[in-house]
Amino acid sequence: MSLKDTVNTNKIAFFSTQPYDKTFFNKYNDSFGFELDFFETQLNPQTAALIEKALIVCVFVNDIVNEAVLKQLAEKGVKIIALRCAGFNNVDLDAAKKYNLKVCRVPAYSPQAVAEHAMAMILTLNRKTHKAYNRVREQNFSLNGLLGFDLFGKTVGIIGTGNIGKAFAKIAIGFGCKVLAYDIVTSAEMEKDGVRFVSLEEIFTSSDIISLHCPLNDQTKHIVNKESIILMKDSVMIINTSRGALIETAAVIEGLKEGKIGYLGIDVYEQEEKLFFRDLSADIIQDDAIQRLMSFPNVLVTAHQAFFTNEALTQIALVTFNNIKSLLAENDIENKTALLV
Ligand code: NAD
Repeated sequence: MSLKDTVNTNKIAFFSTQPYDKTFFNKYNDSFGFELDFFETQLNPQTAALIEKALIVCVFVNDIVNEAVLKQLAEKGVKIIALRCAGFNNVDLDAAKKYNLKVCRVPAYSPQAVAEHAMAMILTLNRKTHKAYNRVREQNFSLNGLLGFDLFGKTVGIIGTGNIGKAFAKIAIGFGCKVLAYDIVTSAEMEKDGVRFVSLEEIFTSSDIISLHCPLNDQTKHIVNKESIILMKDSVMIINTSRGALIETAAVIEGLKEGKIGYLGIDVYEQEEKLFFRDLSADIIQDDAIQRLMSFPNVLVTAHQAFFTNEALTQIALVTFNNIKSLLAENDIENKTALLV
């Protein structure tokens, strides 16, 4: 029996689909002609059973793509896992190799989208425009409690200077900030722009604002923890638009309670998979840590929306389709970093 008899070589099963995913993937499918099967549910060991004769599975940041799931997918005849995101910490790549599955991602769909959101969080936390917006609607024109600081001349420490970190550095430089960076590889181009590569410790001790742009892996998990927070300047601002587990949640809650951390902006959260991308407004949230975080006046939480621009969603759809097309034709993917296995 050939592969064609058991699976539809043209069919993509999408998991964790939101209305905007359908809009963008349907819009750009005209020139590709794939058959698209959209599931709202997350991919996990239970929902993998929903896949019917699809050769390709398309997943997002909170889908569970562990060994148990990959085994099921391989048994169903799936050959390609296409991530419609950059981060891939949710995929067991060794298991994918073991089951002969190809895994691809969208390495850089719009670094600006995420970098600009990081700056939006900084500006909101600093200048409190979210509070001003509500205040004037109540005819309260007082400025008390809205005091901010000039970004000009402040030291911004960037951890991870890949596509997003680089774009963010340019924005910070544009605001007149001094930019320090830490990465396992330095960039001569960034140094030319005035960025100074320093040790991780110097990022912690010298930065007024720390912005995380490294991937989540064994080295970076809980990079912001009790020990690193002690090293930081009093009233430091921490911004995380990368992955939730870069921050040890209990440690930042302590840092906020003690006043050591002056501002926290998070677009990602360690336990976000049970919360983000859903409307839970009528539910009782069981996660006490996120409730505590949201209760601080100097904490801004956005629900993994940094990537969410028109340009980014267009690129995500086009690059995902092109990745799949190349893999089906057994051609090389144009951007080498897109192929993970
Ligand atoms: P990238 O691969 O271009 O850059 C990552 C950088 O981190 C590289 O320069 C790498 O050398 C560096 N790095 C790796 N290990 C490190 C370590 N131990 N310490 C310091 N630096 C290290 O990735 P990118 O496109 O810039 O994305 C960065 C992260 O942003 C992704 O991993 C993803 O988790 C996250 N992201 C979030 C959103 C969102 O919507 N919030 C969207 C896209 C990406």
